[in-house]
Amino acid sequence: MDVRSQLAMVFHLDKCLGCHTCSVACKNVWTNRPGAEYMWWNNVETKPGTGYPTRWEDQEQYRGGWERTGSDAPRLRSTSRLRMMANIFHHPHMPTLDDYYEPWTYDYGTLFNAPEGPDQPTARPVSLVTGKPMDPQAGPNWDDDLGGSAVYAAHDPNLDALTPFERQQLFAVERLIWFYLPRTCNHCLNPACVAACPSGALHKRGEDGIVLIDQDRCRGWRACVPACPYKKTFFNWQAGKSEKCILCYPRIEAGEAPACFHSCVGRIRYLGVLLYDASRVASVAAAPDDKLVEAQRSMILDPNDAGVVREAIAAGIPSSVIASAQRSPVFRFVREWKLALPAHVEFRTLPMLFYVPPLSPVIAHRADGGALENAPQDPFGDGDLARLPLKYLARLFGAGNDAPVRYALRKEQAVRAYRRAVTVGDITLDAAGEMLRSADSSVEEAEAIYQLTSLCAVDDRFVIPSSYREQAMEAPG
Ligand code: SF4
Ligand code: SF4
Repeated sequence: MDVRSQLAMVFHLDKCLGCHTCSVACKNVWTNRPGAEYMWWNNVETKPGTGYPTRWEDQEQYRGGWERTGSDAPRLRSTSRLRMMANIFHHPHMPTLDDYYEPWTYDYGTLFNAPEGPDQPTARPVSLVTGKPMDPQAGPNWDDDLGGSAVYAAHDPNLDALTPFERQQLFAVERLIWFYLPRTCNHCLNPACVAACPSGALHKRGEDGIVLIDQDRCRGWRACVPACPYKKTFFNWQAGKSEKCILCYPRIEAGEAPACFHSCVGRIRYLGVLLYDASRVASVAAAPDDKLVEAQRSMILDPNDAGVVREAIAAGIPSSVIASAQRSPVFRFVREWKLALPAHVEFRTLPMLFYVPPLSPVIAHRADGGALENAPQDPFGDGDLARLPLKYLARLFGAGNDAPVRYALRKEQAVRAYRRAVTVGDITLDAAGEMLRSADSSVEEAEAIYQLTSLCAVDDRFVIPSSYREQAMEAPG
């Protein structure tokens, strides 16, 4: 066993409002510089939708992440030693500026300084790349809340999992629904961006696993951009270097949560330490698609296990990090409750950002008297009455395997029913207890999930070891 520690994240999608406060906080802190205008290290997408850059999930187009080669360690899709030389000045799978969007501002000077006249002055859009007037045709949130759905949402690559009839149903008025998917760098355990860089400029920090780009070593080859399947490294066209989310490590070292976490209005974000077995990275990344979620979960170690603690101390992990891992909300959501799942685990980068899938309303039945009845007890069974089809969520959060998604949704629904029994009373506690049992849960667990989801204080959502601060103070330079 090779125990390492990783600062990991959970986003609870049932709580996201799609307000974009997180994206704006990040933009104001990190990417309001020349050459970085088009970058959104944190962005929030409407799903179904094509996202940013457009259709980023389609690896036939972008060739990001790793591909399986039988039982051997997976290999990079985007490059290899040989292809590196061939593609060093031109990579055929690099997203273009149009795949992101051409950033623009407005000609505010004309608006504010126009002389008095018969017409209302306007501020025309001006390209931040060319400085010339432009007519924006796309932006990072052009399809927010399914705006322009005929053009955008219908092209979501995850819809390939549905039959034509199911697709039609998804966009039928009575079923029409969407959810928000906030995205940042996943600070992966098997980061394709690090493996692809010919200059060795990318690295994963030993103490907390944050993936960083050394700006002095970066030579602007951009190999990291096609390699990252989540498209979370960006090329600064003015500096000539690549950039990415740094998980606000200066804030982490001061004991503060990253700006997007701190500002999150819906309080959907959780941050905490995971201990994991690094000796299993290659074998887990090579697991078959339908075993990937469980394989990744199984390499996360129980920080309360005496044997794991012994190995962690032997590996030089500070006691404050181990104590922090024992209080980690991420460990509870991911390993203990199995509620949070990685997005597109089939890209095999072993992302360290996990999502609690959205518990969309289920389709209700109209009773004879006209009143809406509750849907059947198990809407996630074979009939799949969830408005967001399970198959769709399984493509996003289960590598096509619906079992882990169904497990999480059943548990979320049972917890909701239990709380309804406690507070509203239109479900009996016995019936709610039965739902919890059949969802592999209990009253004690439901209370704990409810506490961490709804009531907890900021110190319970963000559990940051104090030793990160001490290590930063002791670091040379
Ligand atoms: Fe690298 Fe992309 Fe993973 Fe971030 S999400 S660590 S940029 S591969
Ligand atoms: Fe969602 Fe929070 Fe971002 Fe708002 S700030 S969009 S609630 S993740």
